[in-house]
Amino acid sequence: MRTKIVAGNWKMHKNAEETEDLLNDLIDKLPNDVEARVIVAPTFVNLSSAVEHLQFTNIGVAAQNMHQSESGAFTGEISADMLKSIGVNIVILGHSERRAYFHETDALLAEKVNTALKHELEVIFCFGEELKDRQSEQHFNIVENQLKDGLFHLEAKDWENIILAYEPVWAIGTGETASPEQAQEMHQFIRQTIETKFGAEVAENVSILYGGSVKPENAKEIFGKPDVDGGLIGGAALKATDFSAIVAGV
Ligand code: PGA
Repeated sequence: MRTKIVAGNWKMHKNAEETEDLLNDLIDKLPNDVEARVIVAPTFVNLSSAVEHLQFTNIGVAAQNMHQSESGAFTGEISADMLKSIGVNIVILGHSERRAYFHETDALLAEKVNTALKHELEVIFCFGEELKDRQSEQHFNIVENQLKDGLFHLEAKDWENIILAYEPVWAIGTGETASPEQAQEMHQFIRQTIETKFGAEVAENVSILYGGSVKPENAKEIFGKPDVDGGLIGGAALKATDFSAIVAGV
């Protein structure tokens, strides 16, 4: 059985105090009878306090990004080793906002993935098509290429530390969600694509999360699809009641 996961991507929200408040609220409200792994990804400056705050809980802490180099003259950047040194063991890579606003390419992401795995970080690898791709019926091609260019250089054993997050760009922060059927159709395609390259065992075991306007009202139905193993949540992760309700739906 593969792991169900619900991860909250806090993006550039919550200062130090608000981070502590939300974490306290989550500790209070998250259901403790679900089998899913729960992960939160506060901004870099609040990662240390989040790790400390959550040390006696089952809630994992992820970074939202990371530089591909080991160290060096890269003003403003954060390395894998720095994350590990403060107890962060998970990193989100390839979020569509990183791809769109910071020009992260699949080739760059392949490098980041390698660096993260070398430092034994678990990777939540995000990808997904834009609206124009879906309208021109290129969405399967786009997704396949993102997977190939970002992850197909890996070996089967590396997949123990890879979590996939399919996030159609047109559904992120827009209030528009892929229908449960659209999500299932794509997740099944993703799993088949992984199987063709890495075999049935890797494909069966990899968790594939859906992201894009997941809310308490739609989570259960989307998560109920056989190839959807949970979600990567943006806006609704910023409120403990909403995030807890989403976790309860997995
Ligand atoms: P959203 O964001 O839930 O606000 O659409 C999802 C994401 O960007 O990971």
